[in-house]
Amino acid sequence: MKGLAAAAAASALTGCRSTGSSGESGLDGSLKWGKAPCRFCGTGCGVLVGVRKGRIEAVTGDPDCPVNRGTLCAKGYHLPGILYGDDRITRPLLRKGDGYEPISWDQAITLIAQKYQEAIDKHGRNSVGIYGSGQWTIPEGYAALKWFKGGLRSNNIDPNARLCMGSAVTGHMTTYGSDEPAGAYDDIEYADAIVLWGNNMAEMHPVLFNRVLARKRQAPHVQLIDITTRRTPTSAYADLVMLMKPQGDLAIANGIARHLVHHSGLDQQFVDDHCTLRKGKTNIGYGTEDHFKFQDKPEPIDLEQYRELVAPYTPERVAELAGVSVADLKTLAEIYAAKQTRVLSLWCMGVNQHVRGTWMNNLIHGLHLLSGKIGVPGSTPFSLTGQPSACGTCREVGTLAHGLPADGHVKVPEHRAKAEKIWKVKPGTIDPKPGLHAMAMFRALDRGDLKVMWVQVTNPFVTVPNLRRYRDGKKKKRDDSFLIVSDIYPTPTTALADLILPSCGWVEKAGVFGNSERRHQQWEQLAKPPGEAKPDVWQTVAVARKMGLTEIFPETDSLERDLYNEFREFTLGVGKDVPTYETLQATHGGLRWPYVDGKETIYRYVVGADPYAKKGTRMDFYKAKKTGGRAVIWFRPWEPAAESPDEEYPFWLCTGRVLEHWHTGSMTRRVPQLHRAVPRTYCEVHPEDAQQLGLRPGDKLRITSRRGSCELQASIGGRGKPQRGQLFVPFFDESVAINDVTLDAYCPISKEPDYKKCAVKVERV
Ligand code: SF4
Repeated sequence: MKGLAAAAAASALTGCRSTGSSGESGLDGSLKWGKAPCRFCGTGCGVLVGVRKGRIEAVTGDPDCPVNRGTLCAKGYHLPGILYGDDRITRPLLRKGDGYEPISWDQAITLIAQKYQEAIDKHGRNSVGIYGSGQWTIPEGYAALKWFKGGLRSNNIDPNARLCMGSAVTGHMTTYGSDEPAGAYDDIEYADAIVLWGNNMAEMHPVLFNRVLARKRQAPHVQLIDITTRRTPTSAYADLVMLMKPQGDLAIANGIARHLVHHSGLDQQFVDDHCTLRKGKTNIGYGTEDHFKFQDKPEPIDLEQYRELVAPYTPERVAELAGVSVADLKTLAEIYAAKQTRVLSLWCMGVNQHVRGTWMNNLIHGLHLLSGKIGVPGSTPFSLTGQPSACGTCREVGTLAHGLPADGHVKVPEHRAKAEKIWKVKPGTIDPKPGLHAMAMFRALDRGDLKVMWVQVTNPFVTVPNLRRYRDGKKKKRDDSFLIVSDIYPTPTTALADLILPSCGWVEKAGVFGNSERRHQQWEQLAKPPGEAKPDVWQTVAVARKMGLTEIFPETDSLERDLYNEFREFTLGVGKDVPTYETLQATHGGLRWPYVDGKETIYRYVVGADPYAKKGTRMDFYKAKKTGGRAVIWFRPWEPAAESPDEEYPFWLCTGRVLEHWHTGSMTRRVPQLHRAVPRTYCEVHPEDAQQLGLRPGDKLRITSRRGSCELQASIGGRGKPQRGQLFVPFFDESVAINDVTLDAYCPISKEPDYKKCAVKVERV
């Protein structure tokens, strides 16, 4: 396993089968095989699952899935183990004093319905909330959305995808008027240059990174550029590694834009035909205060004004702001400027978890629009997704505080009317005011304004930044609020719950996920759940029905099929058409929307490739209705981080993930092979900083910020290598609450927190 991690290219393997923990080979032909997408990242690898007597015995990469073509990464091969840890939650458990007592499902559902109704009657519909996940299946997310916005008339629903994809959503919406990428994974095989913006792809999207390396092997001219704050396993394969200062990406992107419009690379025809330019508000704040409000004010500008705005981003000034060399900056700018070079920009958390995350998304899209490098195979801006259905469930279903399905917004009367019609609820009753986004929801819980909250398929009391405030807040408000948590294992979040519900995991239930490239993949229930565990969709619908909402949740023999097909109604005719549940059942490897006349769409907005793109020469940005069918090139300046190192707190802290563990590790730490590979978290320290601090590898150190501290072991010269003055800590280990230290500053537009930048001090313990 350590070998796998060190050699990132080897992290995607072919031709192996991983057996489950029963000791049987799983290769004697008696297994029943089914298909499913992987449970982990947004890549969406297809998996063949071998089951005997209701238990998973084996998995292998699905050779017929176009995403992974038979390969899986280290996590994928250990999927069976995530279901068979020895501490699965098997019964509903109600808090009693400091412990829990088992109750029946009927008692649990009745209690939840009562708690929600009492809070709404006494404190109003804004006193209740539900916090979900990019790991919700589409039917699960859709059921929660319909229950909350259509049934309870509360918009207080938000997912953990806010913490990873919020800025990608607002980036797409403000640029194209519609969420999700124009391109697809196919672009990898045509690109001449692949630019990674703050993206450790070798560890976070290993199977896709394998496709990147295969492209480089087949076409040796292909350049891989790694723009990063620390050297990672990805950097080992890059032709150019641009080590930048935290927040330096804003300056680098503006520097490239300046090169395009002042020197060479501007595709004037493309900009004239397909684009419009805007600037927005500046000095927009950081969202650290409760009840923070921000509304951007887009102002049209022309190309001459844009030229003036980016003029100050000279190579020398960018070099100073970003800490990169003028020569490297020119090399990168010339890659975007070269007419014949097809450029694929890829990004993920480094860009999204950023106090100017929407701006960074806008800027990367802008580079491709200015240079016309979009809508050509191999040339596209492409945002990678962290979770398996952050796209399908949170972004397409719209399980966000402002959202409705298929790019719907509660503020728009026609979107509300459409939802009321499809949901068959009284016209004019959906609340037009967006609800509480994730950070606002946890702040409301801390203040005691949120009385009842249900957490499904996620572990926020590990992942929320400035965690101590919210954890202590929930503990203090124990008698004043009611927290329900559905999960498969005990976690720090279930430890705070008043009621714990046992959920089915992965293929113990049927579902649909939507991956980064608009691909929907369906699977059937393949394995038996333990004890009394139930699918989250069943739990939500049972409570809704108990609250009298039987008309919007009628009896059916398949909740998954009916809810998915109902969600599909929102997508038809608006350029987001998804296939029917039955079509997906019959398809191996899934299909990409818009799916029209039995055909999937690879290149969105491209005339001749997208059935909706009918006007225009090359492209038709038909969703950009507010800007007359034109994509928006935004001027977005460099602004400082919310908190920077000073004398008292002299280090930058960045947090993130590792190859072997999925998010908070609640599943992967139960897989012995993955746990043994990386059993504890650690703090990466630069060797010279370590020397000054008297630290050797494995020594215990304490990290302290203005918000909290934690102790963990030092890693020096290990997998990741931070620059001087910077630290990196993976967050998968619940025994080290690194989010006690992080800052809950967020992008004012997307409300996505910045987990990559805060100021800390460090000392040897
Ligand atoms: Fe593929 Fe991601 Fe699963 Fe690895 S974790 S097998 S890359 S979907």
